[in-house]
Amino acid sequence: MSSLVMKFGGTSVATIERIRNVARHVRREFDAGHDVAVVVSAMSGRTNELIGWVKEAAHGEANGPVFDQREYDAVVASGEQVTSGLLALVLQGQGLNARSWQGWQIPVHTDAAHGSARIARIDGSAITRGFQERREIAVVAGFQGIEPNAARIATLGRGGSDTSAVALAAAIGAERCDIYTDVDGVYTTDPRVVPKARRLDRIAFEEMLEMASLGAKVLQVRSVELAMNHKVKTYVRSSFDDPADPKPGTLICDEEDIVEQEMVTGIAFSKDEAQITLRRVADKPGVAAAIFTPLAEANINVDMIIQVVSDDQLTTDITFTVPAAEYERAMAILEAARATIAFERLAGADDVVKVSVVGVGMRSHAGVAASAFRALAQRGINIRAITTSEIKFSVLIDAAYTELAVRTLHSLYGLDKS
Ligand code: ADP
Ligand code: ASP
Ligand code: MG
Repeated sequence: MSSLVMKFGGTSVATIERIRNVARHVRREFDAGHDVAVVVSAMSGRTNELIGWVKEAAHGEANGPVFDQREYDAVVASGEQVTSGLLALVLQGQGLNARSWQGWQIPVHTDAAHGSARIARIDGSAITRGFQERREIAVVAGFQGIEPNAARIATLGRGGSDTSAVALAAAIGAERCDIYTDVDGVYTTDPRVVPKARRLDRIAFEEMLEMASLGAKVLQVRSVELAMNHKVKTYVRSSFDDPADPKPGTLICDEEDIVEQEMVTGIAFSKDEAQITLRRVADKPGVAAAIFTPLAEANINVDMIIQVVSDDQLTTDITFTVPAAEYERAMAILEAARATIAFERLAGADDVVKVSVVGVGMRSHAGVAASAFRALAQRGINIRAITTSEIKFSVLIDAAYTELAVRTLHSLYGLDKS
């Protein structure tokens, strides 16, 4: 018999009533003859609440907000534990054979990077035995696993239930992984920001990977990596569709499986960026190393980098971006290294946004970025930094212009729905 993984996100399990609705979707697939493993997120808002409590508890300690990540994981993993039990109860109430599974029970083994752990291995045998022996529906708590050496609970980073679902689908050889959420598929851009955004029937793995890493939080980046590497047939679809009349949603697939490839597929944006500029840095060999080595040692990811060509060949300006959450730490590290780097002034801004245009069609079209620069200029939007790669380019702009910029580019590339 073929098996299926169905994943339901926070809004889809926000109340008992919605959990009953989830059970109807599960029932449909079960009645169609599939063995089903359901992966659930915490009820919407719950993970944020748990994180808030962790921070509040840790603030009372002498070491302040620097807290034990293993205890963070112990607390935040509880949200998914609750939903898995609740859905199992609702399914049982409908006369179905169902049980909940925590990450450690399966087990889902992870590495030791608590708070953003990676899945190392999943043993799917207990779940498939339940399928074979009892036709039992497995209700799996997403987002969590166990680090086997210390036997501690680990969580997979925000949005990690997507990754739990795809990894489980690979582990049990599921025919499909359906990610049910509060939108009916992947759109050309966030439909909550651009009402003219269009739903895509298909999107290539590489494009989805870029969209997710550049800010489209509809799927966690690692879930897309896993789907691509393990060839898991993954759909994004709506839990709010009528369970009796579901729509297929968006298939994430190989580029070759998309017949009509547009030049641009989608636009992503991320406010999770901060810009740092070092003014009048000595223009000599070793400066970039002096700046970026201490940041790398502190595990701070640097993204866009621009070095201005100096007039006098003595000093130059260097601008780059870091994640907004690391902004203050990065500024402090650079300030502390002022003597070795030898810059005159340190400036920064965290009210910036990175807007990115994605499409495999860009490989074969020239001038895609140039037209964007013109369109943004016509709207009076100043570009602070630019990066490009084979299938995407990004611009850094003032956050106040986010919607204007995204809508402008969305129309420019013909993505608006008619
Ligand atoms: P879940 O709780 O089901 O995991 P998320 O909130 O993590 O749901 O992801 C779904 C949200 O992603 C949507 O509500 C939508 O606002 C947002 N989103 C951002 N970019 C896109 C996009 N390109 N297509 C669809 N949704 C997007
Ligand atoms: N509940 C977790 C979060 O809010 C995981 C998830 O929803 O995928 O990040
Ligand atoms: Mg999510």
